[in-house]
Amino acid sequence: MQWESRKCTSCGNVDSLIPLKNNDLNVAWPDGRTYVVEQYRCLACGAADLVRRDFQEAHKDDKPVKGVAAAGDGRRFVARPIDKSQGGS
Ligand SMILES: [Zn+2]
Repeated sequence: MQWESRKCTSCGNVDSLIPLKNNDLNVAWPDGRTYVVEQYRCLACGAADLVRRDFQEAHKDDKPVKGVAAAGDGRRFVARPIDKSQGGS
């Protein structure tokens, strides 16, 4: 990991980023500045994505009702690590 912080900028979890090797891309701008773009997978974001995808599949046939909140309205999927020392499973 090259940068100082190991914190996911999307979910805020620490130490959840896994580098995806051989995916680095260089980007050059007309003013001469260049950047290397590295790719990482956030295991916490990935877990939330998986649950969100399954939720959306389960509700794909729901019909919206005007003025009534649907199951997915405002629903956010946020993963946090389970502290096994506190008896989590
Ligand atoms: Zn994340």
